[in-house]
Amino acid sequence: MTDEFTVPVYYDDDANSDVIADKTVAVLGYGSQGHAHAQNLDDSGIDVIVGLRQSSDSWTQAENDGLRVATPDDAAAEADIVSMLVPDTVQPAVFEAISDGLEEGDTLQFAHGFNIHYNQIQPPEGVDVTMIAPKTPGHLLRRNYVEDTGTPALLAVYQNTTGEAKEEALAYAQAIGCTRAGVVETTFREEVETDLFGEQAVLCGGITSLIKKGYETLVDAGYSPEMAYFECLNEMKLIVDLMYEGGMAEMWNSVSDTAEYGGLAVGPEIVDESVRENMDEALEAVQNGEFAREWIAENQAGRPSYTQLYRADRNHDIEEVGARLRALFSWAEEEAPEEAEAPA
Ligand code: NAD
Ligand code: MG
Ligand code: MG
Ligand code: MG
Ligand code: MG
Repeated sequence: MTDEFTVPVYYDDDANSDVIADKTVAVLGYGSQGHAHAQNLDDSGIDVIVGLRQSSDSWTQAENDGLRVATPDDAAAEADIVSMLVPDTVQPAVFEAISDGLEEGDTLQFAHGFNIHYNQIQPPEGVDVTMIAPKTPGHLLRRNYVEDTGTPALLAVYQNTTGEAKEEALAYAQAIGCTRAGVVETTFREEVETDLFGEQAVLCGGITSLIKKGYETLVDAGYSPEMAYFECLNEMKLIVDLMYEGGMAEMWNSVSDTAEYGGLAVGPEIVDESVRENMDEALEAVQNGEFAREWIAENQAGRPSYTQLYRADRNHDIEEVGARLRALFSWAEEEAPEEAEAPA
């Protein structure tokens, strides 16, 4: 552990691998996180059993990867630690199917706290409830393990009936390669609320909305869609890369003085105090559960609003212009991300 930070951060030296050496881990789901947790645990010498529906295409995939596979209820019944890595929206139903297999002293583990924090899953007493949430998509968690660079993660304990919940979570984090890079201690509440706020207000929601508004402003003023696309979307990556490497200061140092002055003077007039008020409202809806209730109801109703929003977004001009432009440039061809799955 280091005291350089305001929160506890744990490394390899803080983890005791003996704590899970003789335990069996059921990894439920074999998607982004699931395949990486399962393969990393297996390579770390932990007994792993992947839990999947019999109809799942991933069943043969996991077997071909050298892993044991069973139905979620059978896997959970056999395991000491059940890692819940199916999509958040199906976790409550999967929990119902596996809860009989949770014995006293077992652990129910998550990579995101939504269902615990918003009471969609009520874990039995006598079971430890923990979270190890890697801060990357699963394919990177796997790659970083293979390359021995490690992946940062969050750790939280919600229910500690054995008195060993945190030690066990740290050992799990080590086995998937996270203590190599640093594991930050948090709570289920803090993880959920900051995650939802961040993705809504800044990352996924805020940035796409900012880009679209900029694009629309230029196109409506008569500039070409191609120019608007480059200025408002394409260049975003260059700016973000600089901030990622060296903070905002490095970005400001790398752009022209004109860009720096214009950015510093005009930026806060664009994203102004009214945006701050909108952000406070979004945060409040996350904190008081309003957003969670809306999203749960949306799923129960078959996702009508989601489908509408999804379609409108994909039909925006900027996507059509972007697809045409990206096709022209060979530099964008390397490692094109896989096509995202459309909602049913
Ligand atoms: P995913 O959508 O990539 O994979 C889901 C897996 O669950 C698939 O193998 C699917 O076949 C299986 N599945 C779906 N329905 C099922 C059912 N009813 N029964 C059994 N299996 C079923 O999911 P993911 O993105 O890996 O997310 C898993 C958890 O990890 C979530 O809690 C998520 O919030 C969290 N998380 C994800 C990321 C990420 O980058 N994807 C990062 C950190 C945390
Ligand atoms: Mg069990
Ligand atoms: Mg346990
Ligand atoms: Mg999230
Ligand atoms: Mg420029």
